Amino acid sequence: MPTTFDLPELRARLKRALRDVPDFPKPGILFKDITPLLADPLLMQEAVAAMCAPHAAAGITHVVAVESRGFLFGMPMALHLGAAFAPARKPGKLPWRTTREEYVLEYRSDVLEMHDDALAVGGAGGATPPTPRVLVVDDVLATGGTAAAASRLVERLGGTVVGVSVLVELAFLGGRERLAARPVYSVLTF
Ligand code: AMP
Repeated sequence: MPTTFDLPELRARLKRALRDVPDFPKPGILFKDITPLLADPLLMQEAVAAMCAPHAAAGITHVVAVESRGFLFGMPMALHLGAAFAPARKPGKLPWRTTREEYVLEYRSDVLEMHDDALAVGGAGGATPPTPRVLVVDDVLATGGTAAAASRLVERLGGTVVGVSVLVELAFLGGRERLAARPVYSVLTF
């Protein structure tokens, strides 16, 4: 995976690789479709490296990514950072004991769950990290409700949210403010 890159030039290529789909999944939403990026392995490697770069020296022990598109970035980022991966999932999907966090979206409420022991295990060779230092990952930050719920879950499980990392930030929706003191890093801003 690349370790140095020209960020403005990479941003231009990434913007070209995303497909804007109007009125999906409902009228008024301009959906950022990442599937053309997923189909380009070299560009995807660069995207993952760019999402990891600000956190390379942050001592991240765990990457927590949000179902389901967050997984597509979170797992390769965990490998790149040498960190454990832990999924935050929709209710009823995780098989072990879980902690849940409800959150309110524009028209409805939703729930995220994590395994109770998600941050108690992990580290190379199965080592247990003394204080989990967590990077929360998703593909898109919109209103911030999802990333805030994942961050609250991490904190309830004893972790410190070192940052929230997304490929795309829809800045006009104010998600950053909803995340309060947790620093947000985005590769692309619209
Ligand atoms: P929010 O909780 O409002 O920040 O929404 C973030 C979640 O919804 C992420 O998991 C995104 O995958 C998804 N999402 C929200 N808006 C969009 C959009 N315009 N395009 C693609 N995904 C979106």
